[in-house]
Amino acid sequence: MGIRNKIKEKLFGSKGKMAGRVAIVTGARRGIGKGIALALAKAGAAVVVSDISLEECQLVCNEITKSGGKAFPVRCDVSVSAEVRQMVDAAVKKFGRVDILVNNAGILRFEPFLDMKEETWDSVMNVNLKGCLLCSQAAARQMARQGTGGKIVNITSIAGLSAFPQIAAYNASKAGIISLTKSMALELASDKINVNAIAPGAIDTPMTKDMLADEQTKQGFLRNIPRGRIGVPADIANAVLFLASDEADYITGTVLVVDGGWICHL
Ligand code: NAD
Repeated sequence: MGIRNKIKEKLFGSKGKMAGRVAIVTGARRGIGKGIALALAKAGAAVVVSDISLEECQLVCNEITKSGGKAFPVRCDVSVSAEVRQMVDAAVKKFGRVDILVNNAGILRFEPFLDMKEETWDSVMNVNLKGCLLCSQAAARQMARQGTGGKIVNITSIAGLSAFPQIAAYNASKAGIISLTKSMALELASDKINVNAIAPGAIDTPMTKDMLADEQTKQGFLRNIPRGRIGVPADIANAVLFLASDEADYITGTVLVVDGGWICHL
């Protein structure tokens, strides 16, 4: 084993297909982001757990380190460029590099189209779409400097491939993420940076808690899901593990739908 690998093993451990990789996951204090952070850490990556609450990021990190993984909490509002730059700098300072970015942070706001406030549009676009742009730019600049390539995985939604009522800003932001994924895939390929998106269907998280607590809504969802169950964060984390791995080296600019078959009805 070469000295570089020996150092890597000492720093990151030798187990798991992500050993030696450094990942940043945004919106990782709970829900899908937390599931992704736990899965990447279990696969051996050192994970920067980022979200708007440092305390809650720290709790996720504690969970990871208790099971022998490596994690570091960073508070970052993805819609603020200075905070995003600080997040990437903190990752490099702590773990030396950035190999994987998962743009997971997102918000959902319900408003009928005719009554939608400008503020609703702006906040949804700022977090979901601009956040994806800012984090990707900052992380990709670092990956390009490293010269060893990287993987960016954007969490969009089946709402970005079709549309659901009362959430026009969300639909548009998620469609925007799909377009941005393709633009980034084109422009970053020469730096060996792959950019892909995952489009979840209905996943059981704090974002969908109220909807799923309403039995009628839940049954309505289930009628549309051929696989017959609501998804869990691990369903999305498994897809991230694939797209962030070496096995996905020739995949870029795609959208992987993880929805139990819901999109087949849309
Ligand atoms: P969630 O609300 O549980 O988690 C979203 C996280 O993003 C939260 O921890 C929140 O603090 C964080 N966040 C919000 N604004 C932020 C900001 N400005 N900066 C940094 N972090 C911020 O929701 P979730 O269901 O886990 O959603 C995760 C992602 O998956 C989102 O992008 C969401 O749109 C997408 N998604 C979810 C579902 C679903 O059914 N749950 C379906 C499709 C897509």
